[in-house]
Amino acid sequence: MIKLAEIITTQDVETIFDTIHAMVALVESDGRLVSWNSAFESCKKTIPSAVNLNELFSPNDKSLLHGKLSNGLLNHWAVEFPLNGAGPSKYCDCIFIPIDDERVLFIAERMESDIALQEMIERLNRRVKLFQIESEFSKKIARNKQIEMDAVMVQASEVAHVDPLTFLVNRRTIIKELQDEVMRAERYHSMLSVSVVDVDNFKAVNDTFGHPIGDEVLRQVAHQLRESIRHPDMVGRYGGEEFLIILPNSDSAAASEQAARLCKQVRETVVRVKENEVNITLSVGVAQFRVGVDTWDTLLNNADNAMYEAKKNGRDRWYIAK
Ligand code: GH3
Ligand code: MG
Ligand code: MG
Repeated sequence: MIKLAEIITTQDVETIFDTIHAMVALVESDGRLVSWNSAFESCKKTIPSAVNLNELFSPNDKSLLHGKLSNGLLNHWAVEFPLNGAGPSKYCDCIFIPIDDERVLFIAERMESDIALQEMIERLNRRVKLFQIESEFSKKIARNKQIEMDAVMVQASEVAHVDPLTFLVNRRTIIKELQDEVMRAERYHSMLSVSVVDVDNFKAVNDTFGHPIGDEVLRQVAHQLRESIRHPDMVGRYGGEEFLIILPNSDSAAASEQAARLCKQVRETVVRVKENEVNITLSVGVAQFRVGVDTWDTLLNNADNAMYEAKKNGRDRWYIAK
């Protein structure tokens, strides 16, 4: 069979365009009208002054037209369009065919029957459904990514704040807490005490039982400290076998009561690791914050010195900074 396009001359095309019912217009990529056939001319009578295709479209469709023209795809579109000078607009099946020079051939044909309209609507509905499925799928992927990211953030925060051996907050974090509590005590003139807790003769524990057993002992002592302090007190790992307890709203009497309790508890608890039984004691230095006198580091220093006094006086005891 010979192809139509091979035997039809340019003149024939003009004639064909002028006899068919479809409205045909050649437009620039911005919709400006370049040339059109007789069927289009009769619809253009509605707005004789129209120089752009979009002037013939309803406000709703107008906003979509630009996208249709510029996306360069063969695209069917059901659109309300005036058919002949007067009367209401009718639904037309429009198609945009990109041709040379970035121009587009616009062809609109009235949908002759409800069936054709129905088919078009169904086709569009199927597309909408497909978009919805795609969009749900993308949302699901985004949600999963968010969950993964939250988990990574939680892990990162733990790594930054938690001591990996004892699972207490680490030195940086407990000192930050101390700085915050000192600021609060200064602002509200509230009481604040701290205790520096040091495990007695811990080097001997390592030497006798080995470092891994020493680690486990430290873990258990840390656990005991965490379980024994009350809200809003906080405990963190301050150094190797040293811990810092912050006691907001407490004076040194309350802190020493806690220190006495901790010394007794740890003294009376035999730490069991595998077949080993390890006896542990603590030395605790207590210091109370003095508004207008202390800073966070002098407070810490005072508690540290008090802890060394407890060591000097025989260990397994607490001492209050003077
Ligand atoms: P004192 O009663 O004077 O505090 O004696 P001490 O032996 O506890 O004090 P010293 O400062 O001489 O030794 C502390 C020991 O704690 C030495 C160090 O190897 C050990 N240590 C510090 N961090 C860890 C740790 O994470 N795991 C283990 N197993 N040992 C640790
Ligand atoms: Mg020490
Ligand atoms: Mg020690």
